[in-house]
This record gives sequence, structure tokens and C-alpha cells, in this order.
Amino acid sequence: MSARLSEIHRVTGLVLVAAVLTGLAWMSGHSHEVRDTDTAAGTVVQNSRLLMGTQFNLSVWVPIERAPEAAEALLDTLDQIEALERQISDWDPNSEISAVNRAAGQQAVRVSPPVRELVATAIDWSRRTEGAFDITGGALFELWRRARQEKTLPSDQDIASVLPQVGYQQLELEGDNVKLKRAQMKIDVGAIGKGFAADRAAAYLRAHEFPDFVIDAGGDLAVSGRRGNQAWDVAVRHPRRDELLATCAVTDCAVATSGDYEQYVTVHGQRYSHIIDPRTGWPASDAVSVTVITSRATDADVLATALSVMGADKGIALANSLPDVEALIFKSDGSRALSDGLRLVDNRLEKVP
Ligand code: AMP
Ligand code: MG
Repeated sequence: MSARLSEIHRVTGLVLVAAVLTGLAWMSGHSHEVRDTDTAAGTVVQNSRLLMGTQFNLSVWVPIERAPEAAEALLDTLDQIEALERQISDWDPNSEISAVNRAAGQQAVRVSPPVRELVATAIDWSRRTEGAFDITGGALFELWRRARQEKTLPSDQDIASVLPQVGYQQLELEGDNVKLKRAQMKIDVGAIGKGFAADRAAAYLRAHEFPDFVIDAGGDLAVSGRRGNQAWDVAVRHPRRDELLATCAVTDCAVATSGDYEQYVTVHGQRYSHIIDPRTGWPASDAVSVTVITSRATDADVLATALSVMGADKGIALANSLPDVEALIFKSDGSRALSDGLRLVDNRLEKVP
């Protein structure tokens, strides 16, 4: 986060969504009332930790007398996310995902219930997005990661040689056993892990009777309840410039954004995103940023990545075909595309009544 934006964040206590292009007002049927705030009777307790290669910021609203209890609950929640990271990280050699990767082309590996759930959800979304989202793209994503570090492009030959190691059809889940059927295949949970972690953190807080919170998993948000009498404020910033575009009020939903603004390589004046089409081996290029709003953070995270790969027309069509999924796409030509359930009113995004 830039110094300027983090300053605004610190002063106002806004939650920043990475690079969303405009304001969101997502009230799940409530009408937004800004009364004299109730927050005098309550307080927002916060904690942060670097996890999954990003910063997790957790905020819980509680009546003042529950503040110490909330602080404990946040520590426990962060510990839970850290434990999940140790299970799903693809770079930690001791994780379950690394064990699955090492056994590629050989045998199945028994995994724990959360890893099973993550893999099952990923396979389901790969089918529904016809492979635009695919966690088995690890070898391909690594090729592009190296290219970004070296500021070069991989050759057609490099890409052709890793494509046979990509494909969710070769990822088998039977009971608690996960198997990558081809040698050298590699699972990468980069496009689903943060959202999945946010949902688990949300479930943990709700189970401990903290219904009012924002979990910000590096820009992927799970928002629940309210901050006293008010909805949570979400500030959004421009995908290309260091400025806030709008602030907005949200409650009870998940918001995730994917785009080429955070990790990319520029070669011969062309920007290549870190989001890769697993079918062609080449980066997504139609969308600068994709924001998805839905109930579960896991789905928002997956779909923000998948819609980036599909591009605006197919991406919006998919969002329109799914119940409870809305999307906002900022295209490389500067235009915007919205799913049917959204409209822009004076730079604020609203649900179509
Ligand atoms: P996100 O920021 O959620 O869009 O995730 C991007 C990260 O997910 C990349 O850095 C890759 O590690 C991985 N990734 C890139 N393209 C895809 C894809 N099409 N499907 C699944 N994971 C991807
Ligand atoms: Mg994602």
C-alpha cells in the first residue's frame, strides 16, 4: 500500500480494497442509514499479520466490555490462518499441498479436511469455468514468475513444454486422497487460498459470537454485520493511479479483486499479468481489474481470477449465469463492464433493485 493511501487508511479507519475501480454499496436489502453512530457504545478491535505472502487485517466491532475478549479471538483467528497456511502453502516443503506435489505421477496423498475441501472447491470451479481457473497450473505459473523476475518472456517452446503438466482433469480427489496423475504437475493455491482463509476466519469469528467484522485478506474481503449502527466503509482505489476513487458501505458479503496492477512484467511496452490462461499458457490481457461480489470469499477469489482469464464478455456472461454473483470489470481499453445486477450511479456501485 502506498504511503498516501496507508495514511488515509490510518486516519479514517477505512478498509481498502486493492484496486477496485469505483465505490461499492452492497447492502443485502438493508437501506443504509447513517445515524448518529452507535460506535460510542462499542469499539473496533484490530489486528494484522503477514500471512500467505500478504497482510491480513482483521477488524471486529464489539461493545466496549467485550474488547479484551475480541482481542483474544483475533489472535486465535490469526493463529488459525497461520495453521491453514502451513497446510496449503505450495512453497513450504512441509505442507500437505507440497506432499501432493512431490507425489505427482506416483501416488495419492491423504489430506486433512480443510485441504480436501479446498481441492474439491477448486475442481468444481475448474469445471464450471472450463479450465479458466485451474490450481494445477503451478508449473506454468512458475515459468511466468521466473520471467517476471528476469523481465523477459518465456519462449513458445518453454510454454509448450509445461502445458502437458497443467490440467484439472489430471487432478484426482477420492475420499481424502489427492493425486496429481502426471509427473511434474504442481498445485498452486495462489488464486483461492486467501479467500478460503477469509471464509474460515469468518466462520471462526461467528462461531465465537463475533458477528460484526471485516476480514481483509490482502484485498480480498469477507464483510459481516455492522460497525455499531453503520455499515462497514470500504474505500476503493484506482488500478492505475495512487488515488482513492470512492468510499462505500458494505455488509454481509465477500469482495475480491484480481488484476494486472500488482504483479506483471512489461516487455516491449506490453504489460503481461501474473494471471495466466492455463489453456493457452499466456497471460490474461483483456481485463485490468476484475472485482467480484458474492457470499463466500472463496468464490469471490476464484471468480475474480477466472473472469480475468475469460475477459470481459465471457466473464460478465458467466457472472450473469450464476446466482448471487456480481462483477465489475475494468478493461484494458479503459471501458467498464458490469453484470446485470449492478449499476453505477455517480461513481457509486449499487445493486439493481
Ligand atoms: P489472484 O490474485 O487471486 O488472481 O491469484 C493470482 C495467482 O494465482 C497467481 O500469482 C498464480 O500463482 C495463480 N494463478 C494465475 N493464473 C491462474 C489461473 N488461471 N487459475 C488459478 N490460479 C492462477
Ligand atoms: Mg483469486
